[in-house]
Amino acid sequence: MLISDAMNAKLNEQITHEFHSSHIYLAIACQFERQALKMLAGWFKLQAREELSHAYKFIDYVNAQQGVVHLKAIPEPPAEYASPADAIKAAVEHEKKITKCIHELMALAEKEHDFATREFLGWFVKEQVEEVESVTHLYEVANMAGKNLLQLEAYVAQLGRKD
Ligand code: MG
Repeated sequence: MLISDAMNAKLNEQITHEFHSSHIYLAIACQFERQALKMLAGWFKLQAREELSHAYKFIDYVNAQQGVVHLKAIPEPPAEYASPADAIKAAVEHEKKITKCIHELMALAEKEHDFATREFLGWFVKEQVEEVESVTHLYEVANMAGKNLLQLEAYVAQLGRKD
């Protein structure tokens, strides 16, 4: 094994965190589907898929370093939030938590002089900046839109066109 036991264990925890993120966002997407907010539902479904790809990146990395992947139980996400803004706020809080986890992993890599893992994690450090920014903007727009959820839908629709 080319990574330490401690690093292997931390990377396994992160795999669970990424699957957990996917679960949370998929559950949020389903709430939006129920409310006929199709653009928001699509945005969160896409996020959920992206989180799966993050989990796979960690899995592939652990395998490449001849570590042992332990797939653990994924915590159950809430099925219902009081409002769309509350659901988006939960996503903001979750992404901030994930950023902290990535930074802890990076700190361990630096402490262990594990340069390969540090390099691997660099992508996630940058990714988290984008994740927190985009979901925070969505939350701000949700607050501005208030009860006018069609405005929030229009905002998400134009995001798709911009990319
Ligand atoms: Mg992620």
